[in-house]
Amino acid sequence: MTRSFAERLLAWFDDHGRKTLPWQHERTPYRVWISEIMLQQTQVATVVPYYERFMAHFPDVRALAGAELEEVLGLWSGLGYYSRARNLHKAARTIATEFDGRFPETVEAVTALPGIGRSTAGAILALALGRRHPILDGNVKRVLARHRLVEGWPGQSAVERQLWADADAFTPEARLADYTQAIMDLGATVCTPRNPACERCPVQGDCGAAREGRQEELPTPKPRKRLPERHTAMLVIVDGRGRVLLQRRPPAGIWGGLWSLPEWDGEGELRHWCRERLGLELLHVEPAPRVRHTFSHFHLDIDPYYVEAAGAPSPGVAEPEAMAWHPLAASRRLGLPAPVARLLAGLAEEPTSAA
Ligand code: SF4
Repeated sequence: MTRSFAERLLAWFDDHGRKTLPWQHERTPYRVWISEIMLQQTQVATVVPYYERFMAHFPDVRALAGAELEEVLGLWSGLGYYSRARNLHKAARTIATEFDGRFPETVEAVTALPGIGRSTAGAILALALGRRHPILDGNVKRVLARHRLVEGWPGQSAVERQLWADADAFTPEARLADYTQAIMDLGATVCTPRNPACERCPVQGDCGAAREGRQEELPTPKPRKRLPERHTAMLVIVDGRGRVLLQRRPPAGIWGGLWSLPEWDGEGELRHWCRERLGLELLHVEPAPRVRHTFSHFHLDIDPYYVEAAGAPSPGVAEPEAMAWHPLAASRRLGLPAPVARLLAGLAEEPTSAA
């Protein structure tokens, strides 16, 4: 008979699993809890010395609850994500006052503590007490999404629900601590985000992703937001003395206060627009390929025009406010938005000649 997922994983764990990490001996809920929180977003090798120092200072819940927050943060210093340390301290005080210093043993009570989600609660109770609770951390999500061919980004609730159901279905009735450690280890050391070592994987035989060669596609990454697109035309106008016309942006908004290029709204004919709006006669106009600049919330597509203008504004038309001619070399020392600096750099290679 084919062995179950858990049986194969446990056999692999007996030979290859990690068994000597500091939180794997004297497994109390408190010690496992601290390790699980430290291991969030942090590699095992980084965590080990922090964990040992932390345990030397705070060997149990009461010691942690009795400490000043400053001391806890000091021992956390360098691990990052400091809300984890603040939550540990707060949770320790709750355990000290509401549970008389004994770590709670139901998943409901554990998840009610600050900073502990369903997966971490399951891991603490399974690893420390051998209780049957599935876990679903990032490593386990990856293993299950690949093995079960679960499509969709795991951050979506329907996908996450499916993964929890699979995690629950695979969790055995016995050896819960070993199984929980084993599935975490498999994700961390074999079913890695890049180049998983399927040839060494104990559950390769019925892995959907391995069968279909889709390991790199799963789990489905977070969908990228499609940014809206905006459009403008920028005029790189040079006069007969080699000066470039720049316009200072309003203080608020994108590129606030920086010098930029005059922007043509695309209305009418460019030569006419320049005559009317800027009082300039154009001698030569050279369109250049579109440039895309991406802000956090939109793409800006810029159609550049390299333009040579007659030396002086037409009589009777005032130079628009906030515009000024700058010698080209000096303009490069001004605060310029990145695409504008690139367009000006292109000027050297984009000679204009009288048409
Ligand atoms: Fe991951 Fe490969 Fe194992 Fe499938 S066979 S669970 S993709 S390591």
